Amino acid sequence: MVKPVIVISSCIEHDRCRYDGSFIASKYVKKLKEYLEFITVCPEMAIGLPSPRESIRLVKRDNVGHIQLLGSKSGTDFTDKMNDFSETYLRKLDPQKIDGFILKSKSPSCGIGQVKLYKDILKAPLITGRHTGFFGGKVKEIFPTFPIEHEMRLTNDEIREHFLITVFTRARYKEVKSMKDLVKFHSDNKYLFMVYNQSSLNRLGNIVANHEKYPLLEVKEKYFDEMLKTLNRMPNRKRNINTLTHIYGYFKKDLRIKEKAFFTDSIAKYEAGLIPISAVLSVLRSWVIRFENEYLLSQTLFEPYPVELSEFPD
Ligand code: SF4
Repeated sequence: MVKPVIVISSCIEHDRCRYDGSFIASKYVKKLKEYLEFITVCPEMAIGLPSPRESIRLVKRDNVGHIQLLGSKSGTDFTDKMNDFSETYLRKLDPQKIDGFILKSKSPSCGIGQVKLYKDILKAPLITGRHTGFFGGKVKEIFPTFPIEHEMRLTNDEIREHFLITVFTRARYKEVKSMKDLVKFHSDNKYLFMVYNQSSLNRLGNIVANHEKYPLLEVKEKYFDEMLKTLNRMPNRKRNINTLTHIYGYFKKDLRIKEKAFFTDSIAKYEAGLIPISAVLSVLRSWVIRFENEYLLSQTLFEPYPVELSEFPD
């Protein structure tokens, strides 16, 4: 397996850089360290703040036209410093080298959409709605097609699986160096892309066929753009069932009646939300091995990321 490169807020399982001198312990991120390469960043310390420090907050004063980043007690204005740092730091990151972001939720710096906004410093009331932190907002602006999650959302099974599939697929794509590699990549990911979007899978196939004889670099770029669109929308149960049934078609005629009934029953249970898709995939994979189907054996759908990351320990 390749090792995707992820930019992560330092206070998540790395450094004691929070305003109160603590860090967020996460058994899951600890486990991820074995499988992902992390680039840590603490924007607040990067603009010169110590830890511990006064907490900072998003403020929208009536007499100021824009949201500011202020010390919650002193009112010190960090807006320009944080904007400058975020712009400079993120523009320096090489988009070819990174595969995604895990940012700290609710932070006025790193947050990506659930940050509190106040009317002023001290005991001023909240303004309704949730907002984006200064650094988190810049990440979304500069890297719009990248997988960006906060640590709380990764506790959700479907969101976590989608995030891992996306970052590992992006990382594997970086290994494509020739037209032959691209053909193999497309072939190995066929059923993975099918659960995301059948029409997109067909478009990817056309790009690989390269009837127009475009140069490799151009084909790779087109393929990558289309792949990002494919992975942009999370798979749903219906598309998953279509793909599982499609793979089942390879073995149908060779299976015993009881095995066929077991598969039909598994699909019904998956449809009803009683078992996860991994349970049905395990059944199919056992038949892939038994019938020695080399084409299906190399399908990433059966293990799009290390199986050890499927369980959430926190
Ligand atoms: S949320 Fe971001 S800025 Fe705040 S401590 Fe964590 S890494 Fe630093």
